[in-house]
Amino acid sequence: MNIHEYQAKAILEKFGVRIQRGIVAETPEQALEAGKKLTAETGTSWFVVKSQIHAGGRGKGKIVGTDYNGVMLAKGLDQVPIKAGQMLGGTLVTTQTGDEGKKVNKVLIAEDVYYPGAEEPKEYYLSILLDRANGCNVIMASTEGGMDIEEVAEHSPEKIFKEQINPIVGLQPFQARKIAFNLGLSGDAFKEMVKFITALYNAYDSIDAAMFEINPVLKTSDNKILAVDAKVDIDDNALFRHKDLAELRDLAEEDPLEVEASANHLNYVKLDGNVGCMVNGAGLAMATMDVIKISGGEPANFLDVGGGANAKTVEAGFRIILKDPNVKAILINIFGGIVRCDRVANGVVEAYKAIGSINIPIIVRLQGTNAEEGARIINESGLKVSSAVVLKDAAALVKEAIANVK
Ligand code: GDP
Ligand code: MN
Repeated sequence: MNIHEYQAKAILEKFGVRIQRGIVAETPEQALEAGKKLTAETGTSWFVVKSQIHAGGRGKGKIVGTDYNGVMLAKGLDQVPIKAGQMLGGTLVTTQTGDEGKKVNKVLIAEDVYYPGAEEPKEYYLSILLDRANGCNVIMASTEGGMDIEEVAEHSPEKIFKEQINPIVGLQPFQARKIAFNLGLSGDAFKEMVKFITALYNAYDSIDAAMFEINPVLKTSDNKILAVDAKVDIDDNALFRHKDLAELRDLAEEDPLEVEASANHLNYVKLDGNVGCMVNGAGLAMATMDVIKISGGEPANFLDVGGGANAKTVEAGFRIILKDPNVKAILINIFGGIVRCDRVANGVVEAYKAIGSINIPIIVRLQGTNAEEGARIINESGLKVSSAVVLKDAAALVKEAIANVK
């Protein structure tokens, strides 16, 4: 589960990670109030206004139809509501949002932390993630902060340091020092970075995060180390033991069809194609998508209805697929192992009747326990549903269905 920057920063702060302070606002008036409060708290007179969307690259991203960026500096309190107004209600397109962009409903008004001093402020990169291959956590660190890390990885991989952390024993003090040393730090900044990394790892571990990415981590001109940005991804499978964190979910940031699917315990990912598919089992769903492509179609979605498919889940799946206007045919591919094919067939027929106006061809392939009986139920239903037992035949039917559409 992804959360917003302002929420991530609040979590980090609770664990003693120094952050760039900010206050969230939903209107230009609230932005002005937030600016005043920040000045009272921190003494800052410059601010950064930051769009809160679930995607990075905001600084370089543009609000559609304007030249405004998703992160902008406000050199004075009077500029804060103006910049906030330029973002709020707009659609922000970044390299991570896709062309359709994301609507900006909230902005974070933050203190300017790039103030001049004895030394230039310097940006670093830090992330913590799960290293599945090695069964441990890994901290990635780089002196090339503020940049696209994929770019650094491609052109100068030697500038990314990786430190594996054993999840049982946790981050060891020597490891935090090693990272700070690799970043070329010394003196107060070194000590601050060690503290920062230690607190950060503790936060990552405590909230069952799947990923932390702090880009940039800033060394201020007076040698403080703080998080300017914060991307936090929490492991969905651990949310049951973090009820307070589960509440941070922002449904407005997620695809509405995916939200509906997850409410029905369906594993659904929307794609751009024209053939909807409903399958039991993730592996079979992937194979089915391949078959759709081979028969000349493009999958409109990934949908795994799980092992216990019944009339209710089939109906919920149908409704979700049908809400996608690109869908021109639906392929249902069920392997009857635990779930019997006749029960699925009855589920399809019931769901079809319950929904009423389905005007696109539906191809059902049932294989496994009671497959023949399932096919008979479909064929005798009198509905516009074709059935197949062999996947190749189902693919041929899909091909025919989409050829008729074109
Ligand atoms: P992202 O573009 O979505 O990754 O958003 P970030 O939070 O990383 O902000 C983008 C950029 O804004 C940073 O890399 C900084 O260069 C700049 N920025 C962020 N905070 C400040 C600040 O307090 N002062 C100044 N001058 N620039 C800032
Ligand atoms: Mn960033």
